[in-house]
Amino acid sequence: MSFSIVLIWVAYEVRWFYPEMQRYFGDAGTLAGQQLATRSRTYLQASLETLGTESLTEEALKKVKTNLDLAYGFLDIGLYRERYDCTEASLALLDDFDRLIDSPEVPDSRESVAHLLPVIQCATVIEMGQWSRRSVVAMEMVESIDWHQRVFLWGTILFYVIGLGFWWMHEKQRRAFTQSIRDKLNWMQQALEDPLTGAHNRRALDSDLLGHLAQYKRGSKPFSLIMCDIDYFKSYNDAFGHADGDEALKQIVSAISKTLRASDRIYRYGGEEFAIILPDTDGNEAVDVGLRAIEAVETLYIVNPESPYEKLTISAGLASTTTSIEEPDTLIRLADDRLYEAKSSGKNRLSTG
Ligand code: GH3
Ligand code: MG
Ligand code: MG
Repeated sequence: MSFSIVLIWVAYEVRWFYPEMQRYFGDAGTLAGQQLATRSRTYLQASLETLGTESLTEEALKKVKTNLDLAYGFLDIGLYRERYDCTEASLALLDDFDRLIDSPEVPDSRESVAHLLPVIQCATVIEMGQWSRRSVVAMEMVESIDWHQRVFLWGTILFYVIGLGFWWMHEKQRRAFTQSIRDKLNWMQQALEDPLTGAHNRRALDSDLLGHLAQYKRGSKPFSLIMCDIDYFKSYNDAFGHADGDEALKQIVSAISKTLRASDRIYRYGGEEFAIILPDTDGNEAVDVGLRAIEAVETLYIVNPESPYEKLTISAGLASTTTSIEEPDTLIRLADDRLYEAKSSGKNRLSTG
């Protein structure tokens, strides 16, 4: 919109500029401006000089006549007649002198001066007059251009500032909108995330299990669920305190996460229990993942004197989808049963049923 206004303005300025230039050249800049008077004066001066010489030859006289004719022609201009009163009188003097020069007796220098000098003066007046007219018009044009330039400059700055204002308002709105989207996404993320370990939470597990099961029923590959639980964690907490227990939880989640593929996800199921969903992974493939997770926790080597393994370990139960599994809870219960088996058969191991 401001661009259109600037365009209209430019068109207006161009429309102003063109007649202004025309006025300048029409009024003062044509040949009739002052140059014809200058030429006329030059011919008159040349004639006067020649007439002043002692012996005037026939040829010189002819040249004088030609020069006087030319001087007459250059002075006999409508514009000069209109603007300069001396023009008519000068032309009359030249007519008169022309008759004199054609008579058998050539005019003497006194008569020549008396006839031609006023004409030369008149041509000079015209020259000066035209010059000053020209400079007045030029000055007016310069002032006018200057004024228009200033208006144009300030107008452009104004439009620029207004444009900047609109842009800023738009930018503020855009930023507020982006921020609100970001807040919403953060909030959604937090709603599905466990604040202590950064793992996904129970709500996310329920929703993801539903989604994967629906996909499986539509014909996708089977997927697997691993439930794990930290062994002898109560005694670890009792021995080192709750803060160290929290720290151990974070380290264990981080170590397990590093063994997973990008599509796998770890969830905090509750307390010191975690679930891992392995999309597009059957039971056989999932065994490796379970074993890698157990090994990763062992490698951390978080000392627990109360454990027969002398460090924190995890037990895991694995279950994969089969056609008989209709509900997410069925799969969770199956994996939980196997976790119980792993616990009861000595802990720090994976049970696949
Ligand atoms: P098991 O080997 O059979 O799993 O025994 P356990 O001691 O790990 O299991 P139990 O269910 O008896 O104890 C779980 C403990 O986990 C209880 C609690 O002290 C600890 N725990 C649960 N949630 C948290 C938590 O958020 N932070 C800390 N520090 N400890 C937790
Ligand atoms: Mg435990
Ligand atoms: Mg437990």
